[in-house]
Amino acid sequence: MTRFLTSAPISSIALQMSELKLFNSLTRQLETFTPVHEGEARVYTCGPTVYNYPHIGNMRAYVFADTLGRVLSYKGYRLTHVINITDVGHLTDDADAGEDKMEKMAAEKAQSIWDIAKHYTQAYWDDIKALSIRQPAHWSIATDYVPAMIDYAKSIAEKHCYKLESGLYFDTSTVANYGALARAKTEEGEGRIDEVEGKRHAADFAIWRKTPAGETRQMEWDSPWGKGAPGWHLECSVMSKALLGMPFDIHTGGIDHREIHHPNEIAQNQAHEGCADSGARIWMHNNFLIERSGKMSKSSGEFLRVQLLIDKGFHPLAYRLMCLQAHYRSELEFSWEGLQAAFVRLKRMVMGVSTLRTRHAELVSASIVPNEQTVEADKWTLKQVQGAFSSPMAGTLKDFAAAIADDLNTAIAITALEDIVGLKKIDVAHQLAALADMDAVLGLNLLTLTRQDLRIRPKAAIITEAEIEAALTARKEARAAKDFAKSDAIRDDLIAKGVEVMDGDPLGWDWNLDV
Ligand code: AMP
Ligand code: ZN
Repeated sequence: MTRFLTSAPISSIALQMSELKLFNSLTRQLETFTPVHEGEARVYTCGPTVYNYPHIGNMRAYVFADTLGRVLSYKGYRLTHVINITDVGHLTDDADAGEDKMEKMAAEKAQSIWDIAKHYTQAYWDDIKALSIRQPAHWSIATDYVPAMIDYAKSIAEKHCYKLESGLYFDTSTVANYGALARAKTEEGEGRIDEVEGKRHAADFAIWRKTPAGETRQMEWDSPWGKGAPGWHLECSVMSKALLGMPFDIHTGGIDHREIHHPNEIAQNQAHEGCADSGARIWMHNNFLIERSGKMSKSSGEFLRVQLLIDKGFHPLAYRLMCLQAHYRSELEFSWEGLQAAFVRLKRMVMGVSTLRTRHAELVSASIVPNEQTVEADKWTLKQVQGAFSSPMAGTLKDFAAAIADDLNTAIAITALEDIVGLKKIDVAHQLAALADMDAVLGLNLLTLTRQDLRIRPKAAIITEAEIEAALTARKEARAAKDFAKSDAIRDDLIAKGVEVMDGDPLGWDWNLDV
């Protein structure tokens, strides 16, 4: 079997050449990544609250975190990535207002909260897989850490917290420079101060929420502050410390977390560690995916989930590509036209790479190149690597490496990859090896996807692929026999069934099913 490696050396070497610069929301500037532990990268990503399906905006946060992880791996760091699953504690408002999201959904569906968590965690994992997001080293489940959260809270309670009727609260005036991370550093919290009777400062937040007298919650634990549940922010401080040690390298999340959740995590970290450090060296935030018609609201009937994209005939990796086309710090506006454009671009890349694979296979079968093409990283000789760098690919590989190292400029990196696909008259094995290496950073599965994989049958389709192919063959025969009335009738029938007939499509994509 011919292998196009899991880790080719060409762009890896190029990547090593450029220092990795990342934007730190805390210092508000680009910083060179220097790991806390030599040769390692430890990353924590705030995961979903599993009370409902994730929308595609949520998934943008994980495509971003995954891309960061892939870049760190390719820079040669041993990556430990943690993503948590929030199955307790998150209220409908990120501050301490509203109802518990999990309890609310469980009540609405008349199901156990544990079943709700299980169902939506699996749905989230399905989306993770569909978007080619790599498995982190740990999925940390918040409810597994409640005893650790209670111990943690005990250790900060005396110096940093105060008790109210409704639970234990963190006094934000007890730590240095509270809220330094947040941009909207206003008295926005004013609205929140009334929510909880007796709070000392607007920004103070719950460490422990006591179950109100006379109420029972499905999820509650005994604690020194009464039966109840942990405040939402506590879990991430506890789990990141437990799994990554403190300080660790990078903490990620969506931009909304920069305002409340992460400042509160930082305050807890400072209290627990007894120092002014934030706990993570770099705090990174992806900007939002926005959609103006409200379809991303989880309360809208048909809200924008990965499965909805698939149901409409889009390959999920078209959405990944759409995310990567924008810089993670820019807002990205969702539209079906934009997704369609990304899908066409993905198809073009897949077809380009598959042409190269066919050509390579032909060379192998004609014994022009050896079957065991030595494209595995450790088998490359210095001469070969230097050869790649002095090859027509060299400049583009360096551009790719520089783009990726420049705060993950995936938009430029994609164009570099396309340039490599389009190169002619170069060693096709080198070309495929370079593409495999680039794709390992972008996660588009270009070396394995086939034309067939990209043909996603829309759920509402009323015609099968076999029927389409048969109709197209009949149409071809009718045309050959100059029976244009018949060929037009076949075409009209296909159109009526949602099939776009694409005569002369340069990619050889003869038809498209669009319903
Ligand atoms: P949640 O399940 O609400 O905790 O959100 C999961 C992740 O999605 C968090 O990192 C959020 O910051 C992020 N997020 C929420 N909405 C969007 C959006 N529209 N675009 C990008 N990220 C989002
Ligand atoms: Zn978190």
